[in-house]
Amino acid sequence: MCDPVRKKEKFLIFGSPEIGEEEIGEVVSTLRSGWIGTGPKVAAFEEMFRVYCGSDHAIALNSCTAALHLSLLALKLEPGSEVITTPLTFCATINAIIHAGLVPVLADVDYSTMNIDPEQIEAKITPKTRAIIPVHFAGRPCQMDLIMELAEKHNLYVVEDCAHAVESRYKGKKTGTFGRFGCFSFYVTKNMTTGEGGMVLAQKGEDAAWIKMLALHGMSADAWKRFGDEGYKHYYVVESGFKYNMMDIQASIGIHQMNRLEKNWKRRKEIWDQYNNAFSEIEVIVPEKPAKDTRHGYHLYTILIDRDKCGVCRDEFIKRMTYHNIGVGVHYLSLPEHPFYQRQFGWNPQDYPNASIIGRQTISLPLSAKLTDRDVLDVIKGVKYSIGA
Ligand SMILES: *Cc1c(COP(=O)(O)O)cnc(C)c1O
Repeated sequence: MCDPVRKKEKFLIFGSPEIGEEEIGEVVSTLRSGWIGTGPKVAAFEEMFRVYCGSDHAIALNSCTAALHLSLLALKLEPGSEVITTPLTFCATINAIIHAGLVPVLADVDYSTMNIDPEQIEAKITPKTRAIIPVHFAGRPCQMDLIMELAEKHNLYVVEDCAHAVESRYKGKKTGTFGRFGCFSFYVTKNMTTGEGGMVLAQKGEDAAWIKMLALHGMSADAWKRFGDEGYKHYYVVESGFKYNMMDIQASIGIHQMNRLEKNWKRRKEIWDQYNNAFSEIEVIVPEKPAKDTRHGYHLYTILIDRDKCGVCRDEFIKRMTYHNIGVGVHYLSLPEHPFYQRQFGWNPQDYPNASIIGRQTISLPLSAKLTDRDVLDVIKGVKYSIGA
């Protein structure tokens, strides 16, 4: 099975981003401009992103983690309030809740969609619950009509974690525009990247202004202008804020990534369909079909390796893929598997059976617009070899 002749010559890096000459040129021109910090390019990027999403306000930050943290702070909840989210997410979702002085509560996912199950959310609502953070897993939109209904009924805020969902839509409406806030990531492996970076969409002007201020040390509005061509301006610290602003160097990349967003989305969809076809006759479980009247973001192509059916366990499968020089990811070992959360909250994987099974069976295959046709065929071959088909 591990025939060295047939393995890919060069290691295929998982989630390697597609960076064009436009990004490179823009970064160079920003570097030469004398203004590399938060400035006009960030403002232009925010405006592009805002228009693309059809939102009233967009604030660029240095990560999605920062976006989640500031969104939760902007809700001004009583410390110790409970926030319900999914066990099948990146640790940053939970850490942001903790850093905002709030208590994370998990509601299990649906096994086939891998998204938080609205029925499980309702079961976890207590008198202390104040917010829900749905994560649009892999780019598949959560059932936002049911989630918004629950939020209304129980008077809860919704903050959407859209780290996988830049291009996703639910019933015609952009993900990130349902909740009070929508938080996006431009980390290297995401659908679009600025190296590191994030964005928060806000529905209200006062929320947007509050977040902008908190993101830059808690200094009074537009502090970034203080060294601009209108001459030095005094600033006043009005809150103890954070250092979460995006730089023009990052926005220079983001502007051109946005220009290629739809083209890259189409390419990923093409690869997605190719994977679906190729894996239809083998025993791996492929992603659930996108739901009607939604647009999938095609961020992650995840397969499930059930040892009983595939004759190989997930971790052995990963080893074999690595041997074939194909980089893969795991999204995610469910959060209750991690010692810190077990210690801190007493979480146990058995209490979230769907998320824990997924976490133990799942593998994400390369799905970047950068993949060549040859790369895609090599990934398919690697999967077939690795399960011994
Ligand atoms: C990547 C990711 C984040 C964190 O994004 P950063 O920009 O790296 O802070 C948060 N939530 C989910 C679901 C993610 O995948």
